[in-house]
Parts: sequence; C-alpha cells; structure tokens
Amino acid sequence: MSRVYNFSAGPAVMPEEVLREIQSEMLEYGASGMSVMEMSHRSGDFEAILHGTEQTLRDIMEIPDNYRVLFIQGGASQQFAAVPMNLMKNRVADYINTGNWTKKAIQEAKLYGKVNVIASSEDSMFSYIPDVEDLPVSEDADYVYICQNNTIYGTRYPQLPNTKGKTLVADVSSMFVSEPLDVSKYGVIYAGVQKNAGPAGLVVSVIREDLITDECLEYTPTMLKWKTQADNDSMYNTPNTWAIYVCGKVFEWIKRNGGLTAMKERNEKKAALLYDYLDNSALFRGTVRKDSRSLMNVPFVTGNADLDKEFIAACTKADIRNIKGHRTVGGMRASIYNAMPYEGVARLVSVMEDFEKKH
Ligand SMILES: *Cc1c(COP(=O)(O)O)cnc(C)c1O
Repeated sequence: MSRVYNFSAGPAVMPEEVLREIQSEMLEYGASGMSVMEMSHRSGDFEAILHGTEQTLRDIMEIPDNYRVLFIQGGASQQFAAVPMNLMKNRVADYINTGNWTKKAIQEAKLYGKVNVIASSEDSMFSYIPDVEDLPVSEDADYVYICQNNTIYGTRYPQLPNTKGKTLVADVSSMFVSEPLDVSKYGVIYAGVQKNAGPAGLVVSVIREDLITDECLEYTPTMLKWKTQADNDSMYNTPNTWAIYVCGKVFEWIKRNGGLTAMKERNEKKAALLYDYLDNSALFRGTVRKDSRSLMNVPFVTGNADLDKEFIAACTKADIRNIKGHRTVGGMRASIYNAMPYEGVARLVSVMEDFEKKH
C-alpha cells in the first residue's frame, strides 16, 4: 500500500485512523452480522448510527437545542434552491458574491425571487472578502446569504457580516468542523460533507427551528422542504446511510482529538507554515489578500504557467497529489483540511523550497 499526500479540494483526504476503523467494520458492524451498507435504514442499528452522528456533531459544534440537524442528499448545490424555496416569504434576498459557489447560488435564487447582490469581490478576481460591517441590507430581505469559506479562491470571512437583524444563511462546505462557529449567529448553516467530513453525496444542514415551516414557495418539491426532512428525522426516504455512518466516525475522531478548538489550532499551524513560506518566497506567491486568507484552501502561483506545470510534476514525484489549481483560476491550490497532517504540508513546503532553489 502506498498512500500519498492528497491535497484535493473535494472529495478530499480522510483521517487514516477513521478509514482503518471503517475497514475493520466493513464486513460486520458490531454484532449485526452485516455491513452498514447492507443495513435497513429503519433498523435499530442504523437508527443508533444516525442519532449518534447527530449527537456527536451537536457536541463538537455546541449546537443549541433550538436548532435542527438535517442529513440531506443532493449535495450542497441542491441547497442553492432549497434555501430560497424554504425562506423566501417576501421573495427577496441579499447575497454577497465571493466566487463561483455564490454565483451559482445567486443564479439559482433568481429563479424564485429578487436577488440583491449587496457586496462583491468580483472586481478583483474574488481575491478578498468585501467589507461587511455596514452593508446596504434590503428592508424586505428574507435573508442574507454568504459562502463563508470560498473553496476555489481560498478566501474566508475574517468576521461575519452585520445583517442588521436579517437571518444569516451560510454555505460552510469547505470549512465545516474545521474551527468553532457560534451557531446562534446563523439561521442556516449547511455543508456538503465531502470537503472536510466524509464521502460525497450528503449535506448537513443546521437550521434554527422557527425557519422550518410549511410556508415554502408553493411549488417546492416535497423532498426539498426542510419541514419534510425535519418531521421525518432525515428519513423521509432512504438517506445516504453510508455517508452518515462515515461522518459519525469523523466527528468522533474530532471529539477524541480535542474538538473544534484543537482542530482550529492544528489548522492554523499548518496554514501558517505554508503562508509564511509563500510570503517569503521569491518564486511563489499566494493570490489572496492577507486579511481574507482561508485556513483550508490555499491557492498560489509562480506567475508562469510552464513553471506551474513543472512544479506540479515535481510534486507528483514527491507523492503529493491534486495540487493543481481550479480550472477557473490556474496555478496551484493546496487544500489542507482537518485530515491533512502537518507532515503533508511540511513535505509540500520542502518541495517548494527545492524547486525555488533550482529556478
Ligand atoms: C464543493 C462546494 C459546493 C458544492 O458541493 P456539491 O456537494 O458538489 O453540490 C458548494 N459550496 C462550496 C463552498 C463548496 O466547496
């Protein structure tokens, strides 16, 4: 077996300890005589897995009792539609545009109501988070929408926007369980889990109870109503049982390892190693304004496409994979989620140092 350092933006690296645990339970989970993937979602064993996964997440995120946790299929992208369908009472919403994922969310929301883009960093290739202290929040906005960590451009909100009393909705896919969040500041937090928590195909939505109602847009499909999911304990239909099980293992791994405070510390250490190198390199440079830098996704360039290519080849030789930047940005991107060990980032930096010496 030869595992590499996988810097993929998602699906992404998993904690090796968790993969081994899953491996050991692959043929028989507990005393059930079967694999989790062979189990009825209505079985006692699976119900325990579902509730255990939720409880561990509640513990590590310190989710208040008046929030529901939903496990939904369809990826984070499905929530781009579910958010307006469930929340647009006035059919107006304010969006902050910080990259491809908000562009897609905006495009989707426009199908259902009026969208005001109240701040944007598109003027500068989304290389920073706009000032969000005093935004022109719309009087009749049903919510204010952000993508708190921008996976492609490598930006993260240094502080939450002042929504002037409006409900805050945040796509946190690529920073989910990477650091503590004050859940009470949000109306809705959702994350596709394949960035930092588990296999693709599952979204975890943490939603304040009063926002889960029957008053959805009239044509909202039953499956997209949060109320349907909440009333049925995320089991209106067969949920993504495998992903729920794996996420539960990852949440337990986080809990064993000191919770979200410890995750944040580890992530800050890893990010600092890479950013410090980038700040002092004569060859490589980061593409994001310092105050807006992500702890999870670090894009960087040499400024020369041929050199970038050569560098990516050097990484491959050093067992580093998926370091190529997103097709819309070019250059390189290192995604350094919870499960990326410090040694992986150290390996990357040492390859960068070697490469810099030779060029
Ligand atoms: C990956 C990602 C998405 C899309 O997730 P899917 O599960 O593929 O729909 C949405 N938002 C952010 C911030 C992401 O990183």
